[in-house]
Amino acid sequence: MSRFFLPILKENPREAEIVSHRLMLRAGMIRQQAAGSFSWLPLGKRVLDKVCQIIREEQNRAGAQEILMPTIQSADLWIESGRYNDYGKEMLRIRDRQDRAMLYGPTNEEMVTDIFRAYVRSYKDLPLNLYHIQWKFRDEVRPRFGVMRSREFLMKDAYSFDLDYEGARAAYNRMFVAYLRTFERMGLKAIPMRADTGPIGGDLSHEFIILASTGESAVFCHKDFLDLPVPPAGIDFDNDEEIGGVVAQWTEPYAATDEMHDEAAWAGVPEDKRLAARGIEVGHIFHFGTKYSKPMKAAVTGPDRQEHFVSMGSYGIGPSRLAAAIIEASHDENGIIWPEGVAPFEIALINMKPGDRDCDRVCEELYAGMTSAGREVLYDDTDSRAGAKFATADLIGLPWQVIVGPRGVAAGEVEVKSRATGERENLPVSALAERFGARR
Ligand code: ATP
Ligand code: MG
Repeated sequence: MSRFFLPILKENPREAEIVSHRLMLRAGMIRQQAAGSFSWLPLGKRVLDKVCQIIREEQNRAGAQEILMPTIQSADLWIESGRYNDYGKEMLRIRDRQDRAMLYGPTNEEMVTDIFRAYVRSYKDLPLNLYHIQWKFRDEVRPRFGVMRSREFLMKDAYSFDLDYEGARAAYNRMFVAYLRTFERMGLKAIPMRADTGPIGGDLSHEFIILASTGESAVFCHKDFLDLPVPPAGIDFDNDEEIGGVVAQWTEPYAATDEMHDEAAWAGVPEDKRLAARGIEVGHIFHFGTKYSKPMKAAVTGPDRQEHFVSMGSYGIGPSRLAAAIIEASHDENGIIWPEGVAPFEIALINMKPGDRDCDRVCEELYAGMTSAGREVLYDDTDSRAGAKFATADLIGLPWQVIVGPRGVAAGEVEVKSRATGERENLPVSALAERFGARR
């Protein structure tokens, strides 16, 4: 920690209206560079990478393949799809030195459709789902709440291509289930809600919403969602029926954002089962059929030897917004409480008396042992006061604190504290290798 760039703020930053923004600034995770634009500092970057890695693993598991498309796009493709004029002021339009119209991509339906049509000719090459994790720019009317609603933000966007509606529906279902797993691994309870399709267009869409009092949308859902099971890693993504069954189960109880809220249907939910709350949208999936494939002539030959415009969907998740949303869902008055899957480090190793030979030796042995076992440890070797060390450890919210002080060391013990529960226990130094040894 004496070498780690961790610019902790002592004061509460005045510009921050919500707790996640406040804590991200205080914990030195992000720095605002302009309205709605942020740098990610080392602690924040580690969280962002963890979030992306979970997303990536679950996309790959569901059969999507990662690519990387540029941020700057040519306007030509957007003129072809008919969206260049429709998109409005949220799109940042740019001219290059040849005076060509360019734009900073707010989304990538056109570009990925162009890739598809350049190579894919036959239904035999389907289904296909391509995704990337790339920065987007949207000139939001009101950027606010830090990285929750910024202008430049990271998005995972996947795009599926199928021969017909049935195939596209199966592709939609796979992403739906991948999303359930993704958010669960981040320690979040995300509820899929029927959504309006907006400027992406289409006829089938769900927003994945987590409940938080600072959420921007009002949401209404059945309490049954709170204990619906999320499918295990072993679920078979090739089995359309099984995947469809999970989607059916997760779309059966009532759930809607205020835009789609239906008072009559809501009245049918038993009163003690109604949950009216606020929520944060962390993901959004769409089926939109031939909306882009038709104007952009992306077609394949079907088994009937006829040409078919492919049926498409797109699937977004905001990793940068998620970093903040996770904090909204998991914090207390002392700071952040990272769920294990996304914590920037797993363990804060706190040396209470740097310079004391025994404390230093025990800390260094533990640090070496745990790191070589593949654990991520942030070692507080600074000479700050004990109170400041504990406050920082609580603020940055690593799941475990291992506290090494002279009295304990003399007795051959260290203290282990769980950030989430506050529970403390004394363990023999030798037992730590067992507790935080190699992961199986
Ligand atoms: P919102 O209604 O919140 O503006 P959207 O419907 O415009 O979101 P999509 O186009 O579906 O969002 O984008 C996919 C995901 O990207 C969203 O679910 C969200 O997680 C993230 N996202 C969208 N806009 C922003 C933003 N301005 N800042 C951070 N993340 C964003
Ligand atoms: Mg938006």
